[in-house]
Amino acid sequence: MEVWQKNLAESLTTPEQLAAHFPVDVAALARVVERYPLRITPHYFRLIREVGDPIWRQCVPDPRELDDLDQPEDPLAEESLSPVPNLVHRYPDRALFLVSGICAGYCRFCTRKRKVGCAAMRVTMGDVRAGLDYIARAPQIRDVILSGGDPLLMSDLLLKEILDGLSRIPHLDLVRIGSRVPVMLPERITESLCALLRRYPPLYLNTHFNHPREITPEAAEACARLVDAGVQLGNQTVLLKGVNDDAEVLRELFRGLLKIRVRPYYLHHMDLARGTGHFRTAIAEGVAILEALRGSLSGLAIPQYVIDLPGGKGKVPVCPDYVQRAGDEVWVRTPEGERIRFPEVNG
Ligand SMILES: *Cc1c(COP(=O)(O)O)cnc(C)c1O
Ligand code: SF4
Repeated sequence: MEVWQKNLAESLTTPEQLAAHFPVDVAALARVVERYPLRITPHYFRLIREVGDPIWRQCVPDPRELDDLDQPEDPLAEESLSPVPNLVHRYPDRALFLVSGICAGYCRFCTRKRKVGCAAMRVTMGDVRAGLDYIARAPQIRDVILSGGDPLLMSDLLLKEILDGLSRIPHLDLVRIGSRVPVMLPERITESLCALLRRYPPLYLNTHFNHPREITPEAAEACARLVDAGVQLGNQTVLLKGVNDDAEVLRELFRGLLKIRVRPYYLHHMDLARGTGHFRTAIAEGVAILEALRGSLSGLAIPQYVIDLPGGKGKVPVCPDYVQRAGDEVWVRTPEGERIRFPEVNG
C-alpha cells in the first residue's frame, strides 16, 4: 500500500470520530451521514482550527443538509444528458467523463452530492469502456474532462488505462482532469503519478481551492510537482457563504494560487443542488466581490464568475456591468467608480 492509500484509509468517516476531537451532536450528524457520506483526510482535518471555521464548514456535516428539500437532486440535468452512464455530453465539443465515484474527502456543498461516495456512483470498468467507445465514435468531441468523484483516487494503473484509451482517439485535442486531491490529499501527487501524467500532453488539471488556508506547503509542493511534469494547472473555486464570500479572502486565495503556479479559472456560483442551500449567496454578492477585485488584483488572478444554469442549460459568465449607454453616448465606469465618456465608433 502506498503512503497516500494508507493516509486515505486513516480518514475520519464517522461522527463518533469527530466527537473525539470536537463537541458535536453525534446523533444529528449521524442522520446526515446516513444520506451524504463523510470523509475528511488526516491532512485536511489538521487544517481545522475551530468549530465552524471555513475548513470545518466545507467538510463537517450540517443538519441543514437534510432540510433543503426544495431543490432538485440533479440541478444540471446530468443524468438526462448522459448518453452512456457517467458521461455527460452537454456541449458538442466537450464531454464530462465521470471516471471515479469517490473523493478523498466529501465536500458538503458538492453539486453531485446526490451520488458521490454512494453505491449509485460505483463506476465499473464496463462503464469506462462504454464511455471511451462513445467518445471514439463522436468526432465532434475535442476536449474530455475526467471528473467524478475524483479521478486521482484511481490507481496509477487504471488512470493509465484511461489516458491510453483517450490518447488513441485521434479527434481529441486535449484532456482535462478535475481534482481536489492537491488540496485534500496532496501526498497522492507522487513522483510516479507525475511521471505518468507527463506522458499525455496537453494535459490540463483544474484543482479546487476554496480558501487561502488550503494553500499549505504540502499542497504547494503537490502543485509544483504537477507543473514540473508539464501539467497546466487551473483552479475552480465555489463561492460559499460563510467560507469565502468575502473579497479579502478571495483576493488572498487567488494571489496565493498564482504564487504556486495555479491560474484561477472559474469562480462558480453555487449550483441549486439539494442539500446545499446553507452555502448559497446572492448573485449580487458575487458581482460585488468581482468589482472589488478588479483594479486591485492582477488580471491573471481573476477568474470568470459563472453560473451553471439549471436544467443543464450550460455555464454563463456573470460580469459587473461597466458600460452604460445614454442615447448615442457611451459611458464606462472605472474600477474606482468614476464614469468616463468613451467615444463610440459610428456604424
Ligand atoms: C463545465 C462543464 C464542461 C466544461 O466547460 P468549460 O466552460 O469548457 O470549462 C463540460 N461539460 C459539462 C457537462 C460541464 O458541466
Ligand atoms: S472533491 Fe469535488 S466531486 Fe468530490 S465531493 Fe468535493 S466537490 Fe464533490
